[in-house]
Amino acid sequence: MAVVQRANEQLQKKQDEKEVKQQEVKTEKEDNIKSNVSQQNKSENSKKQNENKQSSSKNQYICYECGTVFEKKPQKTCPICGISSKYIEKYEAK
Ligand SMILES: [Zn+2]
Repeated sequence: MAVVQRANEQLQKKQDEKEVKQQEVKTEKEDNIKSNVSQQNKSENSKKQNENKQSSSKNQYICYECGTVFEKKPQKTCPICGISSKYIEKYEAK
């Protein structure tokens, strides 16, 4: 009887160890997921910031006569082809 009892105890011990290991793995996975999510949030935030920067710097104007793109709208006429600035309009690159 005593031998059987000891064997049962050992078995119980092994099962306990197994459960502990599974719990450890589980918490590790959860930690990984959490850190992944926070990293994704960070990258999304930086993406948005980049988009904002790009859109603000993309205020360009294009001359529909000669196709030249300007950073600022020419005052009266296109300096390249000399056409009226009526033909130079805001250009949104996509
Ligand atoms: Zn022009």
